Amino acid sequence: MSQPVAVQTLVRRTHEDRVLAALRAHGPLSRSELSEAVSLSRATLHDIVGDLLRRGALTTVAPAGAGPRGRGRPATRLALDPSAGQALGVDFGHSRVCVAAANAAHEIVFSREVAYAPSTPWARRVEIALDLVDRTTAETGTTFGALQGVGVGLPGPVSSGVPDVGWQVREGLTLTAGGGARTTLVERTLADRFGTPVHVDNNTRMAALAEAIWGAGADHDGLLYARVSEGIGGGLVLQGRLLTGSSGLAGEVGHVTVAREGLECRCGKRGCLETLASVPAVVRAVAGLRPQVRSFDDVVALLDAGDAETLEVVSRAGTYVGRVLAAACTTADPAVVVVAGEITRAGDHVLRPLARAFRDEVLERHERRPDPRPTALGSDAGALGAIAAVFNRSPLLTGYPLLAGGTTS
Ligand SMILES: [Zn+2]
Repeated sequence: MSQPVAVQTLVRRTHEDRVLAALRAHGPLSRSELSEAVSLSRATLHDIVGDLLRRGALTTVAPAGAGPRGRGRPATRLALDPSAGQALGVDFGHSRVCVAAANAAHEIVFSREVAYAPSTPWARRVEIALDLVDRTTAETGTTFGALQGVGVGLPGPVSSGVPDVGWQVREGLTLTAGGGARTTLVERTLADRFGTPVHVDNNTRMAALAEAIWGAGADHDGLLYARVSEGIGGGLVLQGRLLTGSSGLAGEVGHVTVAREGLECRCGKRGCLETLASVPAVVRAVAGLRPQVRSFDDVVALLDAGDAETLEVVSRAGTYVGRVLAAACTTADPAVVVVAGEITRAGDHVLRPLARAFRDEVLERHERRPDPRPTALGSDAGALGAIAAVFNRSPLLTGYPLLAGGTTS
């Protein structure tokens, strides 16, 4: 009796994983060494290796030197092909997309980004991303025959398997353009294009994952991550898990109410942290005092010039963020608190008052208080996190939803 297709696929993928993991751990191996390392039958291994070679995940390496050790030819060895992309990460931001790829050795093969206007429709954003992938793969000689999956970060609430619960339920107030249709469009287009599963999640949560694995949270137990840019988002990694929450909202620190009588927020509430401390909110507040101010660059210039009122606005924004992070931290008790995003361009002008407010309000029960620190990663953190989600191997992803959607047949 034959096994159901899904089981066969899973078993095959597990075997492939064992072969790739052995080559990652040991470097190039002969077929007999590999057979010993993975404990698979010769026939099965022959089949798996043949397929991986055909798809470009593996390559053959001639033995070092002539190496004639007595009789016979020395065995050709198998190795991971460094140019074979095994995971693709795509991070769609408000005004730019970043794409990154990792090979079977889990090395980052490339990372690139390109800007688009914030009003760009989602179909066009996907085209721009695919175009960037095409150009970069051509330039770097990367191949995708062995692609295992595509991870995608999107702004706003995304819950795996339950597309885009959150803002879009409050009709007329959504700024995340397209609601559930957005996730479906991105997921289907990329799945059709690459023929692999596509995993979609909130891009800030993806960045939090990257920060926990490779950045400031590496080797620490628990991370609270906040990104203060166009909006304010966050992510929580606790007790070895990246949390999504029951409706995809875990870690959304930007929508904690700070001023009940404040401005209406895009989420439908009033006075959220985002309405007071996001980059547009800070620009708006400074422009109210200094009409020549149009952008955050102008704000940073005024800070550099020591403009007292601008310093006060930025300091107040930092204080609001610090208070909300202290509340979140008192609830969740992470070891590390990381602040990322465009706001960090204001440097100590924002980080110092933020840390002060945090220290004043966090429950101080131990000497290892997690002082907020700036991110250790660059602007490709979201794309790197999307790659980590595809590999799905990190212990941080225990219990994390498996690759959703995509083509599985
Ligand atoms: Zn809000």
